[in-house]
Amino acid sequence: MRQDFDKWFDEVIRLHEHFRARDGLPTRVPKARDGVVCKICGNHCRLGAEEAGYCGLRIASGGKLKLVSGTARRARVSWYHDRLPTNCVADWVCAGGSDSGYPQYSYSPGPEYGYYNLAVFYEACSFDCLFCQNWHYRSQVSSEHSARETAQAVTDRVACICFFGGDPGPQVIHALATARLARREKWGILRVCWETNGNLSDKYLDSILKESLTSGGTIKIDIKAWSEALNYALCGTSNKRTLEVVARLLKLAGQRRDPPLVVISTLLVPGYVDSREVRSVARFLASLDPDTPYSLLGFAPNFLMTDMPATSLQHAEECLAEAKAVGLTRVRIGNRHLLGKDY
Ligand code: SF4
Ligand code: SF4
Repeated sequence: MRQDFDKWFDEVIRLHEHFRARDGLPTRVPKARDGVVCKICGNHCRLGAEEAGYCGLRIASGGKLKLVSGTARRARVSWYHDRLPTNCVADWVCAGGSDSGYPQYSYSPGPEYGYYNLAVFYEACSFDCLFCQNWHYRSQVSSEHSARETAQAVTDRVACICFFGGDPGPQVIHALATARLARREKWGILRVCWETNGNLSDKYLDSILKESLTSGGTIKIDIKAWSEALNYALCGTSNKRTLEVVARLLKLAGQRRDPPLVVISTLLVPGYVDSREVRSVARFLASLDPDTPYSLLGFAPNFLMTDMPATSLQHAEECLAEAKAVGLTRVRIGNRHLLGKDY
């Protein structure tokens, strides 16, 4: 696929379309000539009359963009309280799971035992990953909640909010409203963190950056693949915007190093995300900031990739060695317990 993607492109897109149609989702990123443009995420859907955006949450009606969900008043969202330190992708360097950020951004000089992360799950996405581990949101009938209701889940023992999903991108207006309300109303530390595919437009990127920078939170971006062809194959969309967003954020990472503002991760999908992919991602990160924390994650079969094996120990260690060899100083293998597991 890396070498000859033109040959594979139609087949790959048809596969994504098939399963998106099955789940009642718009099948392609709409690009109607003279359509209404949605600028919330990097897909920049151009919607023809009564057409829905790729995430399924925007519809063009009467020449205007109608937000079906994802406003401050209502979003497809749910949440739970997760005891700290949690198995967050950044817990090895962030203020909630490590000794960084204390005392300005953390309640304790180590993992914050006795405190909680409010995990806010958004039920929509701008990508279409075949290995999605949270794919259940695609078919479930969700209830909607306002930003105020979500912010009220922040108690005195909540030290961080993490917006994830799906992806927080398509409903970022709700997430930002939640973060602002919660920070206004809570006394003490409240870090604002994001776990995202990075497919965000500049306007909202600047806003999420501001919330995380000033609260001690971390923006965690998953780079699915270096090759655009493989990103299309695995996730149904381009990775160009994600890489632009990472470049932009890492140029600003020096504004707050403790705890790190940006953490990057990559899922080691067997047969797709090999050491060559990881080397290219790592070289890109090292050229921007060699101290960028980079987490390589073990893959477990999920969603439409249940016929795949788990990441092997050898695969993970090869990738780790490649990432270190190009100059990254902070790389680790996450989800080690999944490596080589027999499913
Ligand atoms: S949020 Fe993204 S995927 Fe959804 S309609 Fe807007 S541009 Fe398209
Ligand atoms: S949500 Fe943020 S502060 Fe909390 S554990 Fe995760 S990265 Fe750390």
